[in-house]
Amino acid sequence: MTDNNRTHKVIVIGGGYAGTLAANRLQQNPDIDITLINPRPKFVQRLRLHQLTAGTGDATADYGDLLGDRVRLVVDSVIDIDTASRKVLLASGGALAYDYVIYAVGSTAAVPESVPGATEFAYPIAEFEHAQRARAAIDKLATDAWITVVGGGLTGIEVAAELAEQGRTVTLVCGGRLAPSLGEPGRRAVAKRLRKLGVTMLESDTVIEVRPDAVVLADGAVWPSAITIWAGGFGVPDLARRSGLRTDELGRLITDETLTSVDDDRILAGGDCAAPSGEGLRMACYTAGPTAGTAADTVLSRIAGVQPAPFALAYVGSCLAVGRHAVMQFTRSDDTPVGFHLRGRVTGMFKEAVIKGTLWGLRREARKPGAAAGAKAASPRIPCSPLRWSHDDF
Ligand SMILES: Cc1cc2nc3c(=O)[nH]c(=O)nc-3n(C[C@H](O)[C@H](O)[C@H](O)COP(=O)(O)OP(=O)(O)OC[C@H]3O[C@@H](n4cnc5c(N)ncnc54)[C@H](O)[C@@H]3O)c2cc1C
Repeated sequence: MTDNNRTHKVIVIGGGYAGTLAANRLQQNPDIDITLINPRPKFVQRLRLHQLTAGTGDATADYGDLLGDRVRLVVDSVIDIDTASRKVLLASGGALAYDYVIYAVGSTAAVPESVPGATEFAYPIAEFEHAQRARAAIDKLATDAWITVVGGGLTGIEVAAELAEQGRTVTLVCGGRLAPSLGEPGRRAVAKRLRKLGVTMLESDTVIEVRPDAVVLADGAVWPSAITIWAGGFGVPDLARRSGLRTDELGRLITDETLTSVDDDRILAGGDCAAPSGEGLRMACYTAGPTAGTAADTVLSRIAGVQPAPFALAYVGSCLAVGRHAVMQFTRSDDTPVGFHLRGRVTGMFKEAVIKGTLWGLRREARKPGAAAGAKAASPRIPCSPLRWSHDDF
């Protein structure tokens, strides 16, 4: 306890899907002082960054009704977590004391330095500013200019399809396999739709060099590319590692099953940057809700002096937009695909409804803390929405 022995200071680092949900959920205890730190004054809907890139949609939302009245938003970046003095240091120069931290910094692009020219000339789209930059560059191109998308995973497919639907000339270089996380029938459905949209698919080819106006493939072929979009997988900010906390190889904070850091029981994690029991979960909104909900519930339990409940998650599927169409791949609870999928325009409308639903869920949690479906740590099995995202995009 701090201050007048009533207020517990909880700092949530990162105001994405996970951090926003966790901050809202903490409002269940009126004695918690909740601070959410995020670098931007607006919420970024990363699910729409391929639309922002293609110029078909915006990807921000006001925090206004997404955050509960008791959540204080600080627009800043955390540059260090000083676990000894229990303070987070801000890029603006200040420091904030905490009793608990919920670490929800999400993920970012992983553009490999090992591919010559990739960091220099390729455009990632994993963050808002990346997508804005890619869009500005695309806007300057003639409609028939060649655009290469590198990465045959879900992000690569979504952005390739979105651009092709706008009449752009798109090549998708998959680096081995198209949509590796889908089952064979689902993969065929994606390929068919991409072909219909006019996307040239180079499934087994790999980009080994990016030039300002071309990409070089592993067989030496030089493919024209006025703009190259890099969608070859996600990385994770290195704040936890820099702060002396144990992370997995991608930089995700290693936690136990209550989402508590294995190094410090005052630090919890949720969303793309969490690795419960060191397990690499899918980087997805689907995972962000249950992990962040569990992290918040663990803090609430510790403050209340009760045993926190462990995290559990069962998958049912994933839904991938292919332009205005979508393919919904059903999975076993362990996330492996089954033979059954849905596809088509109606599935695309469903996907759009689910994306809107993510904001609706955050608003509901802001108004009714503890209400979010799929984030009740007490339930041994968490019901799943059909949304999952693989960082294994290449
Ligand atoms: C184009 C695209 C399409 C996608 N489509 C889907 C989809 O259809 N379905 C799906 O489930 N997933 C999808 N994803 C993945 C999904 O967006 C992520 O899994 C999800 O955003 C994870 O939520 P999060 O809260 O963990 O992280 P984020 O949403 O990334 O939020 C993290 C926040 O923390 C902030 N932050 C980072 N560092 C700091 C710091 N040091 N201090 C303060 N704040 C910090 C970031 O700026 C950000 O605002 C997609 C991703 C992309 C890029």
